[in-house]
Amino acid sequence: MGMTTAGRLPDGRKVHALELGAPPGPVLQVWTLGATVHRLEVTGGDGVRRNVVLGHPSPADHLESTDYLGGTIGRYANRIAGGRLELDGRPVTLGSHDRGNHLHGGPDGFDRRIWEVLELGSHHAVLRLESPDGDQGFPGHLTATVRFAVDAEGVDLAFEAVADATTVVNLTNHSYFNLDGEGSGTVDRHELTVAADHYTPVDATGIPLGTHAEVAGTPFDFRTPRPVGAAVRSRHEQVRLARGIDHNYVLRGSGWRTAAVLESRRTRTRLELLTDQPGLQVYTGNFLDGARSGASGLYRQGDGMALEPQVFPDSPHHPEWPSARLEAGDTYRASMRWGLIASSTPGPTG
Ligand code: BGC
Repeated sequence: MGMTTAGRLPDGRKVHALELGAPPGPVLQVWTLGATVHRLEVTGGDGVRRNVVLGHPSPADHLESTDYLGGTIGRYANRIAGGRLELDGRPVTLGSHDRGNHLHGGPDGFDRRIWEVLELGSHHAVLRLESPDGDQGFPGHLTATVRFAVDAEGVDLAFEAVADATTVVNLTNHSYFNLDGEGSGTVDRHELTVAADHYTPVDATGIPLGTHAEVAGTPFDFRTPRPVGAAVRSRHEQVRLARGIDHNYVLRGSGWRTAAVLESRRTRTRLELLTDQPGLQVYTGNFLDGARSGASGLYRQGDGMALEPQVFPDSPHHPEWPSARLEAGDTYRASMRWGLIASSTPGPTG
């Protein structure tokens, strides 16, 4: 419980770890570096407590990595084509480090900054980041906060941001889940449900083509629970391009609702993701390549998967899509919840 030292960065700066919650409920560990979810311990339906998110062993490892394990992503989660957009006729050029495109806030995104702890209780914390005008190319000074709150049945994450000039904002969390436990192998046998009839197909660099494709009859169809492993091994051209699933789903409906359910029958652990956002990036850990150290060893492809609620990728180039625009002085808000109630259905063993 409370605040401890997670480690130091190569430049000597200290990173703190905040521990929220208490057993038998979820216990969340957040680092001040990137307002990063470093550990999330829950009790499975089999009665065993496990850490169900991937994390790097030290803050220095986190800085070296581009996997965004558990990070708070901003100012703009996901991609913007060519790192270019226009705001009220003014061209904006963003940091672009992903095959010429902007990704996850730029080369020095919010996930790499040390956030200030504004509030710390036994079950909640609020962290704040000041992002100066022109940070990674984004206009306006922006103040962002994220609130983590743990209760007996899950974790709530609430993002807020205010800027002094019109800008774009799309904040999310980039935790990779493995409900059988961090370092336990791949999530192939996890069953995924996504409340979406359409997804946004992409080009070879991950930029949406602009269409909404039906999931029906494709490996992208998670309208009912389906194992992740079969989908990421399909020969579908979109799966091939992304080396798995790395796509935005057009969530059904609007407002606060369930977007996805991920479940492991093996450990009887269940994650229900709720959000108020229009899109959900489903990313099956395609680029985990054994190059980076995880908490208990090297992470390889599919060792965890991320479910990232957000506005659609590249939305500044699609005025017909939900907008990421934030007017000067207005407050951006986005919320998500990880419901973590152990499932009672006994599953096959092994
Ligand atoms: C992106 C992937 C990227 C990953 C980690 C995901 O949100 O969609 O393309 O490789 O983050 O870097």
